[in-house]
Formats: sequence, C-alpha cells, structure tokens
Amino acid sequence: MNNGILITGGAGFIGSHLVDILLKRTKEPIYIFDNFSTGNQRNIQHAFSSSQVQIIQGNVCDRNSIEPLFEKCHTVYHLAAAVGVKLIIEKPVATIETNVSGTETVLQLAKKYKTKVLLASTSEVYGKNTKIPFHEESDLVMGPTIRNRWSYACSKAIDEFLALAYHHEFGLPIVIVRFFNTVGPRQTGHYGMVLPRFIRQAMNEEPLTIYGDGTQTRCFGYVKEAVTAIYELMQKPSALGEIFNIGSQEQVSINQLAKLVKEVTQSSSNVEYIPYEKVYGPHFEDMKDRYPDTSKLFRFLGWRFSIKLDEIIQESFEFEKTHNSSFMGKTRPQRGGRRRRTESYAEEPDERERSIPHN
Ligand code: UDP
Repeated sequence: MNNGILITGGAGFIGSHLVDILLKRTKEPIYIFDNFSTGNQRNIQHAFSSSQVQIIQGNVCDRNSIEPLFEKCHTVYHLAAAVGVKLIIEKPVATIETNVSGTETVLQLAKKYKTKVLLASTSEVYGKNTKIPFHEESDLVMGPTIRNRWSYACSKAIDEFLALAYHHEFGLPIVIVRFFNTVGPRQTGHYGMVLPRFIRQAMNEEPLTIYGDGTQTRCFGYVKEAVTAIYELMQKPSALGEIFNIGSQEQVSINQLAKLVKEVTQSSSNVEYIPYEKVYGPHFEDMKDRYPDTSKLFRFLGWRFSIKLDEIIQESFEFEKTHNSSFMGKTRPQRGGRRRRTESYAEEPDERERSIPHN
C-alpha cells in the first residue's frame, strides 16, 4: 500500500522541521531517509518514539536501498543534497554526484511508482544575477567552471531541468522550490551558514566573523514557515510543474545581522572582517544581494513569511542554550556534563507555527 510520505534528507535541518509539520498535519506513515552525513540524529530524536515515523539510513544515489520506500509512498520530498558553501568548496565531487545522481534516482523511481515529487532547489541558482528581486523566471547567471562554488548552482539547475523534463515528457507530478537563506533552531554552523555561526560566536564571546565588507545582503526566512509553505504547495494540484521562491523579504546586510545577533544575545563580542580568500581560497565569488520575489508563493498560498528576524534569532539562541550547551560553555553552565536525552523541541508550545495563516 502506498499511503506513506518519504523525506530524503529527513534528518537535516529543513527535513527535520518538515517531519514535525507532517506529524501535526497528517496521520500517514513518514519515512525519513538520510545518510547522516550532514543530517543529524539529534534533529529527529523527538520523532523516534512516534509509531508514524520510520528512519532508514541510506544513500539517495543507491537505488536498491531507496526503492522499497517508493513502493510504500505516494509522495517524496527530495531534500537530500549537499549543504552549505563550505562543504561545496571542500567536497566538490560529492556535491555534484549527490545532487545530480540522487535526483536522477529519485525521479526514475518516482516515474516507476507514480510518486508525487517535491524537488528542493536553491536561490543559489540565480547565481551572479544582479537584477533583484529574483523572480522564478529570472536568468540564472553562473560563473566559470573553474570556480567550484558554481558547481552547486549548476547541479541544482540540472536537477530542475530534469524534474521539469519528467513532468513534461512523462506527466510526473513535480513541484520545485528554491529555498532562500532559511534559518531557525537546529541549524548548525558546521557547513558555513552565517546565522548559527554568529550566534555561537556571540555565545562564546568570540569575534563575529564577517566575510568581505559585510555589505552583502540576504533575506533570512523562518524554517517553520518554509516547511509549511512546501507542505501546502504539495496539496495544490495547480502547483504541479511550477517553480516557487521560498523565503522572506526582510533584507539585511551581514553587518546588520551581526549587530542584531549581538543585541539579541546581549553579547560583548566584537566583529572581525575576514577577506573571502582567507576563508574560501583565491578567486571566491560571493553574491552581493539575494532578494526573492515571493508574489507567486503568495498567489498560491495566500500568505507571506512574516516572522521577524530578531524573533528567529531569539528562538535559535534559546535553542542553542538549551540543546547545545556542551560545546558552548560560557553563557550557560553545564548541567552534570550531559544533555538530557529526552529534551524534545517538537513538544514545546509553538504558537508561531499555529499563527501562520492557512487557506
Ligand atoms: N558569512 C559571513 N560570516 C560567516 C559565514 C558567512 O560573513 O561566518 C557571509 C557569507 O560570505 C555570505 C553570507 O554571510 O555573504 C551568507 O552566508 P551563508 O553561507 O549563510 O549563505 P549563502 O547566502 O552564502 O548561501
């Protein structure tokens, strides 16, 4: 019986929040498929006790390990992908192979089992395009292939082409979403993401490391709104074959972000400016401004991202204090040196998720 929902990369940051919303909105079996390379058991620890959830460790490129799950599922949220600029620079082969071959496997199996597919793509595909806001039909402007950074955008663009080709040629029901900078509790700074890094640095009273001159701008969207958006899009037949920007329109520079993090965490950390080449090697190209046009998302869902950045920072900070004190140290004393295994983020009251308007 194919009454289940499969999430590849379900133990990752976004995947784990998707698990939470599926647990609230459906009674169907949820299969979390993850190789736990960047995904983390702690993200989904609270779901272990649910009889609705099964966790399967495997590689999304390995057809044999994932095919049995397609027999059981009517929908797949394909989130498994290489994450973060740092990982892309350090492990380019794994990035390209995971993104391209993983999506190829998912789409081939989805065709075989008539599974509805959500393909997670990224705002990175807009590349060096300087015409903001980015609309879903804006040009994708890539740098040269000798610059590793663009391999991520190109591999995701190929994924999008392939998904659209399956849709047009075989009628496969697919929805493509391009996540803009998505933040919130459980996000780790290990793969270079700026906000969890700043929060951790502020908590440790270390300098906040600003790459470049800090005038580059981003819009940071709340992860719970992001997963609500993708879940709701998947319920809409009119969204099939479409691409959506997923993100907030609250634009801040990285300088402003650092200031905000210092304020919220009440940290006395300084900021330290670090040239890009020191972090990512010579000739690294960053995007100056990244700002989504989300009118299409609004048209389909009837709501926009509304949770303010300072609130997200506050919640992420509280989460770090509660869950990750073991490697933070200064702002929170360790309780007997051990984190309580039963601490459950999903069980915490979540007024904001409930306050997101639904159709
Ligand atoms: N960044 C920074 N300090 C850090 C990590 C990142 O200044 O410790 C910058 C990074 O160069 C980029 C922005 O913050 O301009 C957002 O970085 P992130 O990796 O979170 O997302 P991106 O927008 O690059 O995908």
